[in-house]
Amino acid sequence: MTSVLWLRRDLRLNDHPALHAAAADGPVLALFVLDPALLGPAGAPRVAFLVRSLRALAADLAGRLVLRAGDPTTVVPQVVREVGAAAVHVSADFAPYGARRDVAVERALGDVPFVRTGSPYAVAPGRVLKADGSPFKVYTPFYRAWSSHGWPAPAGAIANRVEWVNGVDAVDVPPEPSLPDGLELPAAGEAAALAAWRAYRRSGLASYPTDRNRPDLDRTSRMSVYLKWGAIHPRTLLADLGPDDETYRKELGWREFYAAVLHHWPASARTYFQPQLAAMQYADPRSESFTAWQQGRTGYPIVDAGLRQLLGQGWMHNRVRMIVASFLVKDLHVEWTHGARHFMQHLVDADLPSNQHGWQWTAGTGTDAAPYFRIFNPVTQGKKFDPDGDYVRRWVPELRGVPGAAVHTPWTLPEPPAGYPPPIVDHAVERAVSLERYGEIRG
Ligand code: FAD
Repeated sequence: MTSVLWLRRDLRLNDHPALHAAAADGPVLALFVLDPALLGPAGAPRVAFLVRSLRALAADLAGRLVLRAGDPTTVVPQVVREVGAAAVHVSADFAPYGARRDVAVERALGDVPFVRTGSPYAVAPGRVLKADGSPFKVYTPFYRAWSSHGWPAPAGAIANRVEWVNGVDAVDVPPEPSLPDGLELPAAGEAAALAAWRAYRRSGLASYPTDRNRPDLDRTSRMSVYLKWGAIHPRTLLADLGPDDETYRKELGWREFYAAVLHHWPASARTYFQPQLAAMQYADPRSESFTAWQQGRTGYPIVDAGLRQLLGQGWMHNRVRMIVASFLVKDLHVEWTHGARHFMQHLVDADLPSNQHGWQWTAGTGTDAAPYFRIFNPVTQGKKFDPDGDYVRRWVPELRGVPGAAVHTPWTLPEPPAGYPPPIVDHAVERAVSLERYGEIRG
């Protein structure tokens, strides 16, 4: 009997347990639904990258990818009826919207089984628990338990042996939205993901522990955009890691941790994980300083470089994500939710668990055991992680004439660089304000 393989965040054909499950029942129809609820809030770079990923997948399937647009609760049962499918196979989705949507689709399918096999994670969220059965709130013990739980080896390649069917109406891959001038996206699709990973294993992985915090060196793996749409599965990455690659494994562990936290506390996508911090005094986000932050015109070079990298590449280095997030919350006193929304709109790798909890962690409102009063100093951070200033000069053209580390403190130069704003706030003052406000709610 024919099965529908409904693809969502698993746009690949290798290492795909749900494809194995579908193919075991007979012919397979590969379906992707363009769901307005998911596409609406995404910015142009993310939509463009999805469109390119779909094009690559359609080519890998020799054109047999069926694309439909609309609400999956109507579209999926309709395709099932048209093709007379016996089951719908998926990789389970654990994010709040996806999990709710899947329950609704399952209900709409009635007697047709909705089969979940695998997920976008090495270990499905919800599986790694404390000895007493409760979920972890702190990363390090989670990581230990996750590592000892383990995960299966990558599933073998079977796509060539599958009997792919289509034979139902489909829409074309939509056109790409127009992108901001100069924005370049990485190559999309499974083959590009595998090639990028192979190249990184050869030339980047060994120096990951020493270089990963250096935005100027730009030596992280850039796998996040591929993991986002499942062009590659984390199990494939984990299987390639050796005993010396613990640092990289730990970063993948963060992704799994945040997915598990969001699974157990779905409301933490929007609300404070530590609710007492919601009572703090915050600034109005409709302020000029929030606009200056969004545009990368705060007068703090490392902050501005990061925010401009976000607009220019749809991506930002992890260290700089932390610096700009801390600056928004602790220096401008704007709530983390506004910054998280800006990131979700512009990041190509925008991923709800990692983004919302990355923000909450930095804001001091999340899973971090470290207290609220860890506040990043943007100048010290700049000098430490971009020691020669190359990252700043790459993204802030007004500062290209300033040599070396002096680029992190342009206001101290005898002649301030033309066109670059002075700092919009005094870090030392705003740090004290943050601590005072924190003191107020602690009583
Ligand atoms: P590498 O350093 O090469 O890491 C390998 C992989 O490990 C990444 O692809 C990612 O899957 C995972 N990883 C690494 N660091 C983290 C982390 N801190 N948290 C969770 N997973 C991690 N990541 C996203 O994928 N999507 C987001 O929307 C996102 N928003 C973030 C927002 C903030 C405020 C912060 C501080 C972090 C955010 N991150 C997010 C995590 C991290 O910044 C990115 O995963 C990383 O920069 C992606 O680049 P890379 O693939 O080169 O990373």
